[in-house]
Formats: sequence, structure tokens, C-alpha cells
Amino acid sequence: MSLVPCRACGYQVDTSALACPKCGATDPGHKISRQQRNVISTSIQVVIIAILLVWGGSYLWRTVVPMAKELLGKPQTEQSR
Ligand SMILES: [Zn+2]
Repeated sequence: MSLVPCRACGYQVDTSALACPKCGATDPGHKISRQQRNVISTSIQVVIIAILLVWGGSYLWRTVVPMAKELLGKPQTEQSR
């Protein structure tokens, strides 16, 4: 455990401290706040979900759409008889 100056007031706080004991700033030992870290992790999750959606969407497009066309095409051939 090491002491670092609080990013808000400069008071020496432990790096693992959740809040500065002097000014009450959250994550005093870290340069980015917890909210900023949440925003970063959320944006990373959004990017991963978007990649999965694009990949899954193209997979579905290549497999489900031909199947659907085949299923939709069958009744039409029966009706034409
Ligand atoms: Zn402080």
C-alpha cells in the first residue's frame, strides 16, 4: 500500500482508499474517477455488443434468409399447380 496525493486537494491518501478522508473525493488515488472508468467500460461493452450484432446479423442473413426464402417459396409452387 502506498500513499498518493489526492487528485482534488493533495492530501496524502492510500491508493486503495475509496474516498479522500479530507475532502471526500471518490477514488483519490486514481487519476480518472470511477464515473469516467464506468463510461470507458460501458463504451467498450457497447463496441463488443455492436461487433457481435454485426457478426451475428451477417451470419443470420446468410443462413436464415435462404431458409426463409425456401419456406416462403414452397406454398407458392403448391398454389401454382
Ligand atoms: Zn482530497
